[in-house]
Amino acid sequence: MSEHYPFENKPLPYKYDALEPYIDEKTMYLHHDKHLQTYIHNLNNALRDHSRLQKMTLEQLILISGKLPENVGLPIWRNAGGVYNHRFYFQGMTPSSTKRPLGALAEAIDKNFGSFENFRKKFTDAAMSVFGSGYAWLVSDGRGNLNIMTTPNQDTPLPDGLCPILNIDVWEHAYYLKNYNKRDEYIGNWWHVVNWLKANERYLICKKG
Ligand code: MN
Repeated sequence: MSEHYPFENKPLPYKYDALEPYIDEKTMYLHHDKHLQTYIHNLNNALRDHSRLQKMTLEQLILISGKLPENVGLPIWRNAGGVYNHRFYFQGMTPSSTKRPLGALAEAIDKNFGSFENFRKKFTDAAMSVFGSGYAWLVSDGRGNLNIMTTPNQDTPLPDGLCPILNIDVWEHAYYLKNYNKRDEYIGNWWHVVNWLKANERYLICKKG
């Protein structure tokens, strides 16, 4: 993750139609090539005249943006968050989902939530509870304790010192073409394509601190 300005929209790690029938090809194409692309374009614009910010990673930009004057910091906060959150979301899905958590993460989910089924219900409730646009997250603290949280708009868990493991984008553009206003249907489909291998890798990195 040493990438810095100018940021580029890297291809998805799978084809646009790879998540069918759970998430449709057109939504994936527009979400990646239009929505994420716009955040990348706007982030590069926001950094163009600020050479001292141009060597920073996305994570560094998100963390420093709140300390900058608002006219400089706010567009960076919003757009770096938009890039970070979308990449995290796309990488957190796969056409070859194991459907259930595995490894150390599976054990931690059982320990923190009682069972995968209970975690799944709590995470779904959190994703349903987001008013307007935002995300639900599974996060870890530095000791490997898990929590569920939500963020509005393109905010991230990073300023709270939390380490993200999994997120779901519940902006309407993530599901409106296929599910219309039925967010619950989209979340139900999303569980079929969760990349638990990736989530477990992230968890192991979070635990190392
Ligand atoms: Mn989105």
